[in-house]
Amino acid sequence: MGHPSVKDRIEQSRHGVALFAEQSVTRLKVRSVVFLLLAVCLSMTAIVIWEAWNSRQYHLRDKEVAMSNLAQTLASQAQASIKQADTLLFTLVDRLENDGITQGQVARLERLLTAQRSELSQIHGLFVYDEQGRWIANSNGAVMPGANNADREYFIFHRDHPDRGPHIGPSIKSRSTGEWIMTVSRRVNHPDGSFAGVALVTLYLSHFLALYDSIDMGHNGVINLIADDASIVVRRPFKEVEVGSSVAKGPLFTQLLPKGDSGTATVRSYVDGIERVVGFRRVEGYPLIIFAALEKEEVLAGWREQALLSAGIVSLFLGFLLVFGYRLIRLMKQQNHVQSVLLDAREKLIEVNRSLELLALEDALTGLSNRRQFDLFILAEMGRARRSQTHLALLMIDVDHFKSFNDLYGHVAGDESLRSISAIISDHIKRPGDLAARYGGEEFTVVLPGTDYVGAFLVAEKIRRAVQQAGIAHSGGVEGTVTVSLGVCAYNPASQDRPNDLVAAADKALYVAKASGRNMSVIAN
Ligand code: GH3
Ligand code: MG
Ligand code: MG
Repeated sequence: MGHPSVKDRIEQSRHGVALFAEQSVTRLKVRSVVFLLLAVCLSMTAIVIWEAWNSRQYHLRDKEVAMSNLAQTLASQAQASIKQADTLLFTLVDRLENDGITQGQVARLERLLTAQRSELSQIHGLFVYDEQGRWIANSNGAVMPGANNADREYFIFHRDHPDRGPHIGPSIKSRSTGEWIMTVSRRVNHPDGSFAGVALVTLYLSHFLALYDSIDMGHNGVINLIADDASIVVRRPFKEVEVGSSVAKGPLFTQLLPKGDSGTATVRSYVDGIERVVGFRRVEGYPLIIFAALEKEEVLAGWREQALLSAGIVSLFLGFLLVFGYRLIRLMKQQNHVQSVLLDAREKLIEVNRSLELLALEDALTGLSNRRQFDLFILAEMGRARRSQTHLALLMIDVDHFKSFNDLYGHVAGDESLRSISAIISDHIKRPGDLAARYGGEEFTVVLPGTDYVGAFLVAEKIRRAVQQAGIAHSGGVEGTVTVSLGVCAYNPASQDRPNDLVAAADKALYVAKASGRNMSVIAN
């Protein structure tokens, strides 16, 4: 019926406050900031790692290409040096086979060998041996008496192999000069094709080493000239013990050469166990392989320095970011805490207000509206009834012989029965617009908007009967139980009556009910 009750009004105000709280308090999202910070840190770390990895791969690839180019250049140089010597050898073999070896020719041959040797600086010597390994001619001067080279590898090779191509044997220390030399030899045949001896040209290893040493290969870089049978011909850095040793089990022969005649890779050395960035290539026309390698650690030293520097810079930046983020989060947490404290305070205030409001409008003993609420309500409802020309009824209820009830049963029981009567009254006013109030002492009043005196009388009678039927014992009462008397009056919207007039009229009717024997309802005339 339009008019809000005390509780409705309080609920409305609470709802309003809750809305206000929702709208005005936007909590700062600490979790989002933590997530954002972590995302930034993680992605920056990932980028730095990714960059460093790429740069490392680039460094290694770059050096692999450099080693490949170096191997190409050194292969060409080795091929050129050996080719020059081998051309002499070829001519020498041709001459020996066509002219035969006579005593007069030997002297001429030696002069020729000496002359040719002095033409080419890489050549250590030119030699001819007969089928027994005896020295026939040599470019280095007189033949040593009784010297025999039948035990040398190249001699045995040519004796046992009919091939006419050049043969490169293991490097050896010269018997004539004591220097380390490389041997390139060819077989000499008799006219019938049988073995007639060996022509040999020897090359200074120092010729190759001088070039290899002039190339900057770092501390642990290696340049290797290796024969097809995997024996080391010459190696930089030079160590006598390594000359002639086999690297057949090393990665060059087991992994790289099976895949191709040239290439690059990063492999661990069979000789010294160091991991190297490698370039290799076969020497064209000769059973040789050139192998150039830089130590991987040395290759990566520059990269490592650069990577550490950028990691340091990024760490510093991340450190600043984390400190800043930590402070920001702490500030946000403080702010959130202050906000929640304020919210708590606000809610407590609302609670206190609500209690105060209830105290101001509610009767403490019975929970019904109090006199103040009744005065406000009746005034508002009479105005409304007058404006809308609708009915309005009022009941005044007074407990019969209540003084004696207190006297007989005590005030505590008196209070209890007042609460019971209040509950009965509340139960009988069903419409939301109705109001039951404690008018004072053991007097109650009920305002029934939109109800005429007939309807009001029916409500009054129901209340009266219900109180009697509740059977609250009262030996001094009318029926031996607690009863109530009721005065009923209806408001005439056309009149100029004020709330007091209405109350007075109901009171008058109540007086008549009392005078007429109590436990009854009387309508004001
Ligand atoms: P009547 O039938 O004529 O109304 O007789 P009565 O005894 O009820 O007479 P009266 O109205 O004069 O007495 C009211 C009594 O109600 C006085 C007081 O002892 C009692 N009373 C008023 N307020 C309270 C209260 O809050 N608690 C209790 N226990 N008793 C109250
Ligand atoms: Mg009274
Ligand atoms: Mg009374």
